[in-house]
Amino acid sequence: MAKAVKKKKTTSPKKNTNSSKKKSPSPKTSLKTLNVPNPKISLPHPEKVEAWGMNSHSLSPVLRPKTIQEISDIFQNANSHSLKIGLRGGGCSYGDASINSDGIVLDLSDYNKIIDFDPATGKLKAESGVTIKQLWEYGIERGFWPPVVSGTMYPTLGGALSMNIHGKNNYAVGSIGEHITEFTFLTAAGKILKCSPKLNSDLYYSAISGLGMLGCFLEVTIKMKPIHAGKMKVWPVVTRNFQEMFDYFEKEYKNSDYLVGWVDAFGSGKGLGRGLIHKSVHLEKGEDEDFPENCKLENQNLPTRFLGIVPKSWMWLFMKPFSFPLGMKFVNFGKYLSGFLSNNKPYMQGHAEYAFLLDYVPNWKYIYKPGYMIQYQVFLPKETAMSAMEEIFKHCHKRKIVSWLAVFKKHKPDPFLLTHSLDGFSMAMDFPVKKSTREKVWALTYELDEIVLRNKGKFYFAKDATMRPGIAQRFFPEKNLKQFHTLKKKYDPNSILQTDLYKRVFLS
Ligand SMILES: Cc1cc2nc3c(=O)[nH]c(=O)nc-3n(C[C@H](O)[C@H](O)[C@H](O)COP(=O)(O)OP(=O)(O)OC[C@H]3O[C@@H](n4cnc5c(N)ncnc54)[C@H](O)[C@@H]3O)c2cc1C
Repeated sequence: MAKAVKKKKTTSPKKNTNSSKKKSPSPKTSLKTLNVPNPKISLPHPEKVEAWGMNSHSLSPVLRPKTIQEISDIFQNANSHSLKIGLRGGGCSYGDASINSDGIVLDLSDYNKIIDFDPATGKLKAESGVTIKQLWEYGIERGFWPPVVSGTMYPTLGGALSMNIHGKNNYAVGSIGEHITEFTFLTAAGKILKCSPKLNSDLYYSAISGLGMLGCFLEVTIKMKPIHAGKMKVWPVVTRNFQEMFDYFEKEYKNSDYLVGWVDAFGSGKGLGRGLIHKSVHLEKGEDEDFPENCKLENQNLPTRFLGIVPKSWMWLFMKPFSFPLGMKFVNFGKYLSGFLSNNKPYMQGHAEYAFLLDYVPNWKYIYKPGYMIQYQVFLPKETAMSAMEEIFKHCHKRKIVSWLAVFKKHKPDPFLLTHSLDGFSMAMDFPVKKSTREKVWALTYELDEIVLRNKGKFYFAKDATMRPGIAQRFFPEKNLKQFHTLKKKYDPNSILQTDLYKRVFLS
């Protein structure tokens, strides 16, 4: 058993530019002590805490505990002195899910040790501030990969569990929650409880997906997936419209470990929903001749330079000249056409390269500056998904607000209380926003909400920036929401935990 493994210092292709840490002023000059009885907590001067999509921010004092004791002390003070706390992991939620305009932000990214790993079972125990990057970097040289990863490697375990994230394999293995065998949890009221599907199961099924509103994940045990190769076999496949994309997913999902579709949202008429699918399959034992050499970190880490020369962190500057609607129409069409060059020609690709495509160009979100972006992701049941997505795309064309990047996935339901998943498909759409277009974009999402709700679809809080009060009540079963509010009262009787998202969606 490996014990107490400290966060590895590996060179990162992209720093998490969203960390509130960077802007932290010098603690010596800025700390002021709250006038509260022991244990005292010191509140630093407020700093800017931003949504990943840059669409909202707050100025908040940010605390960065490193131990359970420190987290516990902060909760105790909050309960005694009516402080409001918003929990934050990597800050990778696109909207205001980890922003707290009216109180403290508790940034858990320094609470980040891998504690224990058992190669016989694949069970890895870690503090909740450990990132997906730490997980895969720790696991891969030992022949393991995280069972579920997001399109970026910078979320923490705590943030991933609170949103119950999904990967490109959601249709096959479910959400991350289904791979968590147990965790310890500090309830907002200050009690530490061990949770598993059998132990404190009400908390297990509600804290996972619970938006950080019931307490704080402490030590989390996740079952890692054994792998037998450093690379996977990938098939790129062009699909000329929605029908072809849906047909391919339905035909291939049983033979695929991962499936993801990129969609050119500018396509219309016969090309509505055209795009490019990447299907991938793990290699079996013995199929990778270079195993375990291929699993070494130096062979997995994303390159930091383009063509070995240009630093990847500059790449967004080259994309910037195209960041207007006609430019993006051109870029999307170019990507679609280039797909024909490699159509159906399989190749081998490293795990990190396949999984974290969105980290390939660091800071790509800056192409939206001086504006910002929102991501609007809809989940639709398989029966209505295609017609609803067609209607959504046509409606965007009518309003002349088209997504610059659209991603398609297949899903299955899971047992967590506020999960976004269902038996169907999702479409994640990135929209650019400027001060002058904000009202129009928000109005568009309100119209799209109605299409989704009419088709019995759902939304995902990790991505949300626009949802109005009353909408959650229309897509979650009433009994789930009732239970969530009951548990909130039980585990957070003084309502110390809140975020801007929670207030916007549930309290307004
Ligand atoms: C480029 C990009 C690609 C993405 N791709 C995907 C994807 O493929 N699939 C997917 O599902 N999501 C995806 N996401 C969304 C992302 O995985 C989620 O938003 C995730 O929750 C972010 O984790 P975080 O640590 O950054 O948490 P934050 O965004 O900081 O917080 C998220 C929530 O977790 C709570 N929280 C944080 N830490 C704790 C803790 N220790 N205990 C209790 N609650 C806590 C916060 O209060 C908040 O409610 C993507 C995001 C980006 C930016």
